Amino acid sequence: MRKTLYIIGLSTFVFSCTSQQNVKKNTYKPKTPVTQAKPTVKPTPPVVQKPKVVSDHGVDFFTTNIADATKNDNTASYGSIVTAKPMGYKVVKTYFPAVAQNFRQRYLILHYTALPDDKSVTVLTQQAVSAHYLVNNTGDNEIYQLVDENKRAYHAGVSAWRNDKNLNDTSIGIEIVNMGYTTDAAGKRTFAPFSDEQVKKVAALVKDIVTRYQIQPTNVLAHSDIAPTRKQDPGPMFPWKKLYDEYQVGMWYDEAAKQTYLEAAQADITARYNDAGFIFLIQTALQKFGYGMDLSGKWDDATKKTIEAFQYHFRPQNYDGIMDGETWAILQALNQKYPAK
Ligand SMILES: [Zn+2]
Repeated sequence: MRKTLYIIGLSTFVFSCTSQQNVKKNTYKPKTPVTQAKPTVKPTPPVVQKPKVVSDHGVDFFTTNIADATKNDNTASYGSIVTAKPMGYKVVKTYFPAVAQNFRQRYLILHYTALPDDKSVTVLTQQAVSAHYLVNNTGDNEIYQLVDENKRAYHAGVSAWRNDKNLNDTSIGIEIVNMGYTTDAAGKRTFAPFSDEQVKKVAALVKDIVTRYQIQPTNVLAHSDIAPTRKQDPGPMFPWKKLYDEYQVGMWYDEAAKQTYLEAAQADITARYNDAGFIFLIQTALQKFGYGMDLSGKWDDATKKTIEAFQYHFRPQNYDGIMDGETWAILQALNQKYPAK
């Protein structure tokens, strides 16, 4: 009997931890307070699959990913675990990993440094800008890590994509050593190529990061995509299609879908190029795809720069910032393939 009472007392204790509000509303309160016997043993936790943790050089890591990707749950990663060490207490890391959590790292942003190797390292480690990774051009197999993936690097600046702003908060930044562009007398930009070794390094790094954090293809972007009026990097020489075709990362359109849009797109450009309604339609399509756009109904400077940023990424053969039939067809094919949720 004594044992039964104890079990009832214990179950009330466990229940009250999770249902405070219900208890307050529905429980009859006796006039004389009843002292509840304190349990002398720990409550038995429910059976939960506990992630294994290993320690390497003083840093703890999950060794298995217990996430259920089909439920958009990425509960535990292979990544490091940063834990409090309160004086006199032990923090138990494998006790109850909560389902209600996800990664802060939801974007991957690519840049070029516009500087040679040595200056890239100096600027990105000593000044007010930084990135998580720096891909050098020195022909070795090293990639430099400058910032912990769990921490914020300062690479994106004022930025936006779809419903998100200030992407430093939610992104991993990769800087690639490359000299950027030169401008001729007519104002045309000519961009420096990336070496094959660099592209392979970047691709392997991107693949690793998007896999670990389950970063969506629509969130693997150029700095110029998230800040089109300010930035050109990594520019039209960066082979986004190669990354899509050979490493299955990032976005690319389906050629067949583009062809279905092409004829009507060219007719639109010929017949309606200067109609405010058509310009508004283009701006809306760019905004829907993800670019931070004002819907002015005019071919203004911001719209031209945004079209140029789109062309750097998806139609790099000609990046004059002027909407043409092919660019318009590609934009529609991308919106069809990657609709905003
Ligand atoms: Zn950049």
